[in-house]
Amino acid sequence: MEPLIIYNTLTRQKEKFNPINPPFVGMYVCGPTVYSDVHLGNCRTFISFDLIYRYLLHAGYKVRYVRNITDAGHLEGDRDEGEDKFAKKAKLEQVEPMEIVQKYTVGFHEVLSLFNALPPSIEPTATGHISEQIEMTKKIIDQGYAYETNGTVYFDVEKYCKKNNYGVLSNRNLDDLLNNTRELGGQDEKRGRLDFALWIKAKPEHIMRWPSPWGWGFPGWHIECSAMSMKYLGETFDIHGGGMDLIATHHTNEVAQSVACNHKEPVKYWMHTNMLTVNGVRMSKSAGNGFLPGELFTGDHPLLERGYPPMVVRFFMLQTHYRSTLDFSNEALQASEKGFERLMNAVKLLDNLKPSEHSSFNLSDIKTKCYQAMNDDFNSPVLIAHLFDGVRLINSINDGGTVTISSADLGELKKLYHDFLFGVLGLKQESSFQNNDELATNLMNAVLAIRKEVRAKKDFTTSDLIRDELKKINIIIKDTKDGVVWEKE
Ligand code: AMP
Ligand code: ZN
Repeated sequence: MEPLIIYNTLTRQKEKFNPINPPFVGMYVCGPTVYSDVHLGNCRTFISFDLIYRYLLHAGYKVRYVRNITDAGHLEGDRDEGEDKFAKKAKLEQVEPMEIVQKYTVGFHEVLSLFNALPPSIEPTATGHISEQIEMTKKIIDQGYAYETNGTVYFDVEKYCKKNNYGVLSNRNLDDLLNNTRELGGQDEKRGRLDFALWIKAKPEHIMRWPSPWGWGFPGWHIECSAMSMKYLGETFDIHGGGMDLIATHHTNEVAQSVACNHKEPVKYWMHTNMLTVNGVRMSKSAGNGFLPGELFTGDHPLLERGYPPMVVRFFMLQTHYRSTLDFSNEALQASEKGFERLMNAVKLLDNLKPSEHSSFNLSDIKTKCYQAMNDDFNSPVLIAHLFDGVRLINSINDGGTVTISSADLGELKKLYHDFLFGVLGLKQESSFQNNDELATNLMNAVLAIRKEVRAKKDFTTSDLIRDELKKINIIIKDTKDGVVWEKE
């Protein structure tokens, strides 16, 4: 079997995956900022890492998967200024900031579970790790890479650059970075224009605040991921992931913080997912083109022709490699729906295939190709293409033509499809009902058919039982001249 190859943003090339301490793998993925609903773009990133997590588990690694919840420290501006996003939303909805955090964390979990994403091993929150963030900030000050001004602690990027490459992840040099950053104004407390806050002094009106050696305040955005990844995965760990939009600032600053604190690279393989776009524009909260997953499931959005089940949406996402952009369109979703159904029908057919004495094809070829695809930087679209090739074979065997399969190969083929479709791609059979109303109608039709049958046999006890049980859940059956009808009381 070929080794697993991963594209590493740090080195900008594909590399053989050599975990630090096999079979253990430490993986950290930046989680959502829970001041609003996650949109479909966010989901793409989390589904991509779910695929990666699932394949690592399938390959036999023991993965500790840490995905944080950002529930503090996000300001409106990207230069450590502006209103706190959580406090702003709390004011708007007239609730406590932690009610906002709870509401959107629950929503995030619900959505990811609809997409059949596995929960991470640890899901730490920024507010639950304030002391770790303060400790790390203190260490960075002790190493001489941060300074305090008026209760706020800044990371000293220029000083860091004397010995380290600040643009190592984004592949940009210092001059380039400086030229693209606004000059400091008279009001600025920072020494250098690239400096960023590790700890921010709380203004009098700021609700979410904690005591620190520098007075009451709250952590900057980037320090939480450095502190929590170090706590749960160590000073250097295997994989760190997130969307590509995080490279330039968030992950660049994470590397600088950790290197300043521990004098070593924090991450062996940096992995980044590309963006979900709508008509070529990145889906984002600020661009106003952010579909909520719920809108996609129901079809309740002006850009949608109809709704699509979560598994079809998951399949649609996995049909593109995680490092390519994925443009949303109704046509693409409809094509994915057809493809998904073809695959699921093939899996059902597998249970009914009649084995022959010999196989007329080489099953290990298909298997090898599936593993080759996934070992080549988790190439799910190529994997899916090979699974479709197999569907053609399955259909031919079922048609009773010249293609045959032995009993042993049939067992292996079933395992292959189950392992890859359900285990690695994380798909599951989607109910054929589009929504709950349709499901209720179909169930009631089935119940009424049974009632009709028992009445024909003059079994009025069972017929009454059916009526009484339905009444308990407020469903009334009426015999009318046009037949039996039912309604909710
Ligand atoms: P946020 O809640 O904004 O911090 O984002 C959570 C995750 O979603 C981050 O890893 C982002 O990089 C990622 N993300 C944001 N927008 C998109 C998008 N349009 N497509 C894919 N991933 C995205
Ligand atoms: Zn992060």
